[in-house]
Amino acid sequence: FFITFEGPEGSGKSTQAAHLAAWLRQQGVSVVVTREPGGTPLGRAVRQWLLSESMDPVTEFLLYTADRAEHVRHVIRPALAAGQVVISDRFVDSSYAYQGFGRGLDLEWLRAVSQPVLEGLVPDVTFLLDLPPEVGLARKAERDRLEQESLAFHRRVREGYRVLARAEPQRFVVLDATQPPEVIVEQVRIEVQRRWRA
Ligand code: C5P
Repeated sequence: FFITFEGPEGSGKSTQAAHLAAWLRQQGVSVVVTREPGGTPLGRAVRQWLLSESMDPVTEFLLYTADRAEHVRHVIRPALAAGQVVISDRFVDSSYAYQGFGRGLDLEWLRAVSQPVLEGLVPDVTFLLDLPPEVGLARKAERDRLEQESLAFHRRVREGYRVLARAEPQRFVVLDATQPPEVIVEQVRIEVQRRWRA
């Protein structure tokens, strides 16, 4: 069972991923928590570049995608094959939202390039932690390169995520990330219970 968390900076993805993992483990479920960028050794190197260097959007997309190729083959697929639940903090929807809607790269091209990387892998459920960019950015004291992008950029990303969610209402669960974390924890649990082994 493959679960992804998506959303802007400061939306609480990592916190929610950790809570969900702890709850599943309490029930004896074997869980792998991972992230993009940076879920593999190559990914961690790529993450360093991505967060510090400015680069062409095409380069940026290809680096995220290279990280994802490693991530799918060496982390996600093997864990799923072993019957583990995989929880990823960001996945391919981040590329569609950030490099597609945010940077303006052609979505069809992004999907085409992603196809051999994903090999048909689709999350069973994707939680979109939705919140206004002003709120998310205010939550983070120190901002990295990407977080210093204009508010207009972050608004495009948010709107992009919402477009993606509307296009796949079965897969996406959109949650209001301005709610207290413990409320979201509960909403996530209910959805996972409803979908997993259903
Ligand atoms: O998950 P986290 O918020 O730590 O992501 C690190 C940074 O990478 C964020 O600033 C996010 O905006 C950016 N990112 C991106 N495109 C992706 C994935 C992440 O711009 N495909």
